[in-house]
Amino acid sequence: MRRSLGWIPVNTSAAKWKNGQVFHNGRYFKVWDSFGLSNYKFRSASFNEDARGRWYFNVVVDAEVKPSVGQGAVGIDLGLKDVATCSDGEKLENGRFYRGMEDKLAIAQRSRNKKRTRAIHAKIANRRKDALHKFSRRLVDQYGEIVVGDVSSQKLAKTKMAKSVLDAGWGQLKTMLDYKCAHAGIVFKEARESYTTRNCSACGSLSGPQGVNGLRLRDWECVTCGARHDRDVNAARNILSLALGHERPEVGIPVL
Ligand SMILES: [Zn+2]
Repeated sequence: MRRSLGWIPVNTSAAKWKNGQVFHNGRYFKVWDSFGLSNYKFRSASFNEDARGRWYFNVVVDAEVKPSVGQGAVGIDLGLKDVATCSDGEKLENGRFYRGMEDKLAIAQRSRNKKRTRAIHAKIANRRKDALHKFSRRLVDQYGEIVVGDVSSQKLAKTKMAKSVLDAGWGQLKTMLDYKCAHAGIVFKEARESYTTRNCSACGSLSGPQGVNGLRLRDWECVTCGARHDRDVNAARNILSLALGHERPEVGIPVL
């Protein structure tokens, strides 16, 4: 038997932040606050139930643009082993969301325990969301411009991981960066990823590993200039310089 998931709409201004909790209809609701909700005025909202029977509070807020103090620009390469690799060397590893969960998941699946399987998947998804929030927050606080590359089909062809799982992580990260950048008044854009893996980010020559096999090499050395590269950091640097190079002639520094 299926039952529909709970959904309770809340009228504009009928819910507010009070004593560190959501206050609605004379009752307090404890929420996991990863946004700093006390800084916002609530507009319309709803309480939503997920498949696990857990409730979430979704709210539209009035937000003023708070100019970021961040400076400079950063490029991001989306990937498989690491969901994202930044041109400054920071990485967000995909496997960390699953760590310690693989065995539990296998046991639950073998015993056809659907409820348990769902619960573990939900926990993994929550971990990922939390990590993506922290990761995107750091970038938005630190930089004045963020450029993210699209994902090549060549990369996807290399993985056994479900595309939907990877898409979820990439999609969430882009969405978070998009709204957080807008809120902070900094530039966010997506750049096409062409030759970003093969170009040396130090000298520009096309000296990187080639083809699908080349994607197995995580580190390489440029035969032209001798620079040593982490493959993904190099790609992120190329994404960044491509975007900046294309932008310079026509667009100036955004006025806040
Ligand atoms: Zn080089």
